[in-house]
Amino acid sequence: MRVGGARATLAGMPFELAPLGFAYDALAPTIDELTMRTHHRRHHAAHIAELNAALSGTGWEDEPVDAILTGLERLPVDRRAAVRHHGGGHANHVLYWQTMTPRGGGAPHGAIADAIRVGFGSFDALRQQVMSAATGVFGSGWVWLVHDGSGLAVLATADQDSPRILGATPLLGIDLWEHAYYLKFRHRRCDYLEAFWNVVDWDVVSDRYSSTDAGTARTA
Ligand code: MN
Repeated sequence: MRVGGARATLAGMPFELAPLGFAYDALAPTIDELTMRTHHRRHHAAHIAELNAALSGTGWEDEPVDAILTGLERLPVDRRAAVRHHGGGHANHVLYWQTMTPRGGGAPHGAIADAIRVGFGSFDALRQQVMSAATGVFGSGWVWLVHDGSGLAVLATADQDSPRILGATPLLGIDLWEHAYYLKFRHRRCDYLEAFWNVVDWDVVSDRYSSTDAGTARTA
């Protein structure tokens, strides 16, 4: 279980659920208030509690989650599956919330816009690749825009796997678990995927891209 207060500092800081940068109802009508609240306060919070429990006593408690996800093979073997699932679940949801804004949508801009043109030809082509990749996920998972070390790519992961496990840097991620869309969109995952672009914060995505080796190399 998580420990709190001053003792947390002594024993290593457990991961905590950060508040969203906007109200739960701020993304409506794209994503409804109850979906956002439940998703954040229940689903994401559960990953954090389970991640803290799985890391307890391993010596990895103070490491950044990205370092944990790229170092899974160095964790005790009996903790790896839980850390992979809940560490991925925590990191993926942090990125998901930060990618969304009530003032989002529109065409990509900034450094990411040029990279999308180079990598995919157009924003429409990117959207088609995202839809196609998501359609290939038959259970729960995520679809991603990543930088794979050589350029932009679209990929899907199952369950809560992070693209970092594959050596890729996630720039934008769309949660394909039903809890992300089911209350409003029911079984219509494609409608959710189309609507998601209305809330994407391209400033954040572009900043993430610029922080990758490729992004900084372009401006160096
Ligand atoms: Mn989720």
